[in-house]
Amino acid sequence: MPDSVRIVACPTCRKEVRWEPQSRYRPFCSERCRLIDLGQWASENYRVPASEESPSSENGDPQR
Ligand SMILES: [Zn+2]
Repeated sequence: MPDSVRIVACPTCRKEVRWEPQSRYRPFCSERCRLIDLGQWASENYRVPASEESPSSENGDPQR
């Protein structure tokens, strides 16, 4: 069976990714792109109404 490898486009950067076991982060081309996408999803999902705490000096944690 020739050419049974599927090629997908990385959702983050549109780079072509071979859909195979070695591509650990498929459909993303890399862990970086996967994290970027997950981050966008998470920030979308975790958007909470700012009601409980004042958004001033509560968070001293640098964002990663
Ligand atoms: Zn990518």
